[in-house]
Amino acid sequence: MSPTQQQQPAKFRLAIAGGGISGLALAAALTKSSCHKQLAVTVYEAVPEYKDVGAGLALHLNAIKAMALLGPELQRAYFERALTMAAEEDTEMATTVMLAQGPHAGTVVAELGKAKGRKSIARSDLVQGFLELVPEGTVKFGKRLVEIEETAESTSHDGRHPVVKLSFKDGTTAEADALIGADGIHSATRSYLLGADHPATQPKNHDGWIVYRTLVSTEEARKKINPRWTTNVPIMMGPRGHINCIPLSKNTRLSAGVAVRGNVLRALTSSAAPDDDDDPQSKPELDPSLYADYTEEAQQIVRLVAADTSASWTAADHDHAPTYHRGRVCLLGDAAHASLPFAGNGAAQALEDAAVLHALFTSSPLSASDLHDEEKGVIEKMFEAYDTVRRPRSQAVVDLARRFGRVYAYAEDGMHEDPVRMKAFFAEMSAFTNQFDVRGQNEEAVRMFEGLMMGRVGDGKGRGELPN
Ligand code: FAD
Repeated sequence: MSPTQQQQPAKFRLAIAGGGISGLALAAALTKSSCHKQLAVTVYEAVPEYKDVGAGLALHLNAIKAMALLGPELQRAYFERALTMAAEEDTEMATTVMLAQGPHAGTVVAELGKAKGRKSIARSDLVQGFLELVPEGTVKFGKRLVEIEETAESTSHDGRHPVVKLSFKDGTTAEADALIGADGIHSATRSYLLGADHPATQPKNHDGWIVYRTLVSTEEARKKINPRWTTNVPIMMGPRGHINCIPLSKNTRLSAGVAVRGNVLRALTSSAAPDDDDDPQSKPELDPSLYADYTEEAQQIVRLVAADTSASWTAADHDHAPTYHRGRVCLLGDAAHASLPFAGNGAAQALEDAAVLHALFTSSPLSASDLHDEEKGVIEKMFEAYDTVRRPRSQAVVDLARRFGRVYAYAEDGMHEDPVRMKAFFAEMSAFTNQFDVRGQNEEAVRMFEGLMMGRVGDGKGRGELPN
C-alpha cells in the first residue's frame, strides 16, 4: 500500500435498512452525488426479490419536487414509468373528490394535486425504477434486519469509531458507522429506537378501517364502470365507505377499492365474523346492496370490487414518535411516520425525508474523517437537524390523513352537509401537503445543521404546523 493510500480515512459506512421507496431513493441520490467518495452506502432489503402486490401511487407535487431535489434521474425514473392519467400530456388532471351519497351527491368538492400531465404509478414500477439507479451490489436482498446493537468501538473496522452492528434473520451480521431505518410501517429500527414496549412503536388501526380492493384489467373495468374512472383518480365519499380507483401499469390495470371506517358494515350486516381487524378472513362481505343510495357511478365501482376482494387489506398508521433519531441511528419514511393512505401523501413524505437527508449529506464539504469524528458528532447533528425539520410536518400529515378519512366517511362534524366548508377544507389541506416549499425545507435543515456544528442550540421547532 502506498503512503497516500495509507493516509486515506476509510469511507463512512452508511447502512440503510429497507430498499423500498425512501431507502432506494436516498441510496440512488447519495451514490450519484459527490459525497459518494466519503460514503459507502449499503441497502439491506428483507425480501429476496420485489413482488408486485398491485399497490398504486399518485404522487403529488411535493413528491415531484422532492424527487427533483434528489436528482433528475429519480424524477425521470418516475416520469418514464408512470401513466399519464389524461390522453394528452398537457391536460390538467387531479384526484377528483366528490360526495357520492346524500342531498349533495355528485358535487365535486376538491381537485387534489391538480397538475398538467398528472400521473399514477404502480409501487413496484417506482421501486424498480429507483433500483436501476443504484450501483450494482449496493442492495443486499434477503437481509431482514432483526437486531441492532451500538457499540463504543469497532472490532473489525479500524478500531476507533462507534459502530452499529446489524443482525439479520438469515443468521448473518454486518457493521456500519450509521444506520438509517427505512424498513417500513413494521420497522425493526423503530422498535429498537423507541423500545418494543413504547406505545407508539407498533402501527394501529385506530378507526378500524377495512380497505376492500380489487385489481382488474382496464379492459374488463371499462365494461363495468364509467370509463372516465379508468384514467382518473376519483374519491367518492359516503358514510359506508369511500370509493377510489387508481390506474396502473400504463393504464393496463386498475386498482379499485372501497375503504370502510369502523364497524359500520358489521353493524349493518348479519355477519357473524369475529371482530378481529387484523385478520383479513374476518372481514364482513362487501355487500353492494348496502350502497343503493350512493350515486350509480359509485355503485358500479362497489360491484366491481365486491366481485373479487382478494387484494383487500387493513389500514393502519403510527402514533407520533417522540423522536426520529438517537445517536447514529435514524428513521426514514413509513418507519418514522406511517400514515393512513387517505391524504395520498405517505410516499411524498418519505421522499421529502430522503431529500432532507440527501441535502444534509451533500451540502457541506465533509470528509470521511469529519463524518467519523466522534467529538464533532457530525452524523448525530445531521440526524438532529433532520428530526427537527421533518418530525412536525410529517406527523401533521399523519394527523391530516386520519382527518381526511373521517371527512370521507361523513364522520367529521357535519361537514358533508356543507359542500362549501368541505371545499375550503380540501383547498387548505392540499396546499399544506402539495404546495409546500420542499427546497426551503432542505435549506432550513442545512442551516440548522450548520448552526449545531457551530455550537448554536436549535429552537427545536421545525416547519409544517397543520392549519386548524
Ligand atoms: P416502503 O416502501 O414500505 O418500504 C419498506 C421496505 O423495507 C420494503 O421493501 C420492505 O420489504 C423492507 N423491510 C421491511 N422490514 C425490513 C427489515 N426488518 N429489514 C430490512 N428490510 C425491511 N403515498 C403517496 O404518496 N401517494 C399515494 O397515492 C399513496 N397510496 C397508497 C396506497 C396504498 C394502498 C398504501 C398502502 C400506501 C399508499 N401510499 C401512498 C403510501 C406509500 O406507499 C408509503 O408511504 C411509502 O411506500 C413509504 O415508503 P418507505 O420507503 O418508507 O416504505
